[in-house]
Amino acid sequence: MDCIFCKIINKEISSEIIFEDEEVVVFKDIKPKSPVHLLIVPKKHIESINEAQEEDKELIGKLFLVARDFAKKTGVSDSGYKLLINVGEGGGQEVFHLHVHLMGGWN
Ligand code: 5GP
Ligand code: ZN
Repeated sequence: MDCIFCKIINKEISSEIIFEDEEVVVFKDIKPKSPVHLLIVPKKHIESINEAQEEDKELIGKLFLVARDFAKKTGVSDSGYKLLINVGEGGGQEVFHLHVHLMGGWN
């Protein structure tokens, strides 16, 4: 499948993966837009939240709890951060594999 995040998940292209389990990977955004900018990505290819199914409910919940954990690990938990999902071209989505942006680290 011609999906850049599937290729990262399958290690066909390299990225700075900082966490991985059977369902989720976390890696650094290649063009960070904040001092801390991580992407929390399900291994399952779901194009966007528009395509998520009832069966994905737990997986989507997990993305947010993993994001919360990495906010803590990267030290932005107390100062505050954003969790962002872009949906569709008009919503700024560039990679059509569901992901949550964790952005923080501003003063
Ligand atoms: P979107 O706009 O789809 O919500 O976010 C896609 C994000 O993926 C962008 O912030 C972009 O910088 C990042 N990105 C795109 N291609 C790559 C890549 O090959 N590696 C990594 N690590 N990030 C990427
Ligand atoms: Zn994919």
